[in-house]
Amino acid sequence: MRILLVEDDAMIGAAVRQGLAHKGYAVDWVQDASEAELALRVEPYELVLLDLGLPDRSGLEVLANLRRGGSEVAVVVLTARDSVADRIAGLDTGADDYLVKPFDLEELCARIRAVQRRKKGRAEPLLVHGGLMLNPASHECSWQGAPVFLSTKEFTLLQALMERPGAVLSRAQLEERLYGWGHELESNAVDVHIYNLRKKLGIELIKTLRGVGYLLGNPT
Ligand code: CA
Repeated sequence: MRILLVEDDAMIGAAVRQGLAHKGYAVDWVQDASEAELALRVEPYELVLLDLGLPDRSGLEVLANLRRGGSEVAVVVLTARDSVADRIAGLDTGADDYLVKPFDLEELCARIRAVQRRKKGRAEPLLVHGGLMLNPASHECSWQGAPVFLSTKEFTLLQALMERPGAVLSRAQLEERLYGWGHELESNAVDVHIYNLRKKLGIELIKTLRGVGYLLGNPT
């Protein structure tokens, strides 16, 4: 999942970016409101982690502008200001959830997963497609009841396909899920991960529509 992290505190920003990258999220990090608005105009993020106390303007203003512009991107507000008024203002301005600093990375990840489920209209935390089961919380995968060991990037790609069964995802869309800014992108990275997934899960599971992209085959 592609995430925009808006945080001016260098230590928190670096720690969150590294922690989320380790979990397989593609994270772009900006440090003020203007950079955040620029990034949101040009990149298709699925989620924004938004600090409220930013050096140039309040994160609340960024959030208000986003919602005024019709954006439905998921927003989790991060704030050191733990006053009830701030949390209420964040939620009422259109945030999907909030976390008060300091927070635990595991809790942040759990909230990201919960917000994503709600956005996709799903209450069930497990992703199931025929004999294939994916648990985004524990990063476990099983196929026909047997555990399958996937790399972080393989898991991320498979999750992207399972979240939208029947939809064709282009190579560019899948690359978006794997890489944030500043990552050297090998031109065939997605193909290599798909090849490895097919080796582990059977050739039939992931279909290629030549020149268009990839989709999950019918469940078996
Ligand atoms: Ca701040």
